[in-house]
Amino acid sequence: MIRQRKQGNLIIISGTTCAGKGTVIQELLQRNSNLSLSVSYTSRKKREGEVDGKDYYFISKEQFEEKIKKDEMLEYEIVHQDHYYGTPKKEVKEILDTGKDVILEIDVKGAQHVKEMFPETILIFILAPSMEIVKERIKKRGKENNEQIIKRFQTAYQEINEIPKYNYVVVNDILEEAVKKVEAILLSETCRVDRIEEIAVENQEEIIHEFLMNKEFDNSPLYKDKLN
Ligand code: 5GP
Repeated sequence: MIRQRKQGNLIIISGTTCAGKGTVIQELLQRNSNLSLSVSYTSRKKREGEVDGKDYYFISKEQFEEKIKKDEMLEYEIVHQDHYYGTPKKEVKEILDTGKDVILEIDVKGAQHVKEMFPETILIFILAPSMEIVKERIKKRGKENNEQIIKRFQTAYQEINEIPKYNYVVVNDILEEAVKKVEAILLSETCRVDRIEEIAVENQEEIIHEFLMNKEFDNSPLYKDKLN
């Protein structure tokens, strides 16, 4: 009776530094086979433990600029004031065409650009419980120098101001709870009226006629007069 759009949905997950959005996304991907993550390109250096093609495609600044020139990017930004990060057009389209939902883990500016191009995009912001916790997590990670930490904090405060542009905000205090909340958001999004392509009610008049003529309803006060 209800036909939903075959193409998958675009879901953007953004969040302040160290909000744990990567962990939330990994959990979502493990639990939901209909979800796929678009791997971004970046010109920043690979961190220890990161895998090329899984965390990012790590390319040089020149290679990135070549991709921009060739119009291969759906969107791109210079994040934390120094490196290119961007979403490849072709890969996202290929995944959406299979009917799977695509998660883009991108910053707030990129999110706005995608939303302008595709207004149905679902925007979710993952927030750390407090900036104090962010500070502790950055220190523990120990991968950035002081200057980089300051830039990340500046970006975080700017990004928090952009939360009203998002559809949903999820505080990642307890991981399991945060994952459940995002799953609930995605589940309810599948029921949205504007995601339905067609509501087909077949032989509407015949069905109503049959229903009214049914003997069980002969004595119903509501229909008695009308059927006589
Ligand atoms: P990180 O260097 O910590 O991996 O990521 C820094 C920021 O870049 C994060 O806020 C992340 O969401 C953002 N980012 C990652 N990939 C993309 C992308 O393809 N486009 C945009 N606009 N931002 C991205």
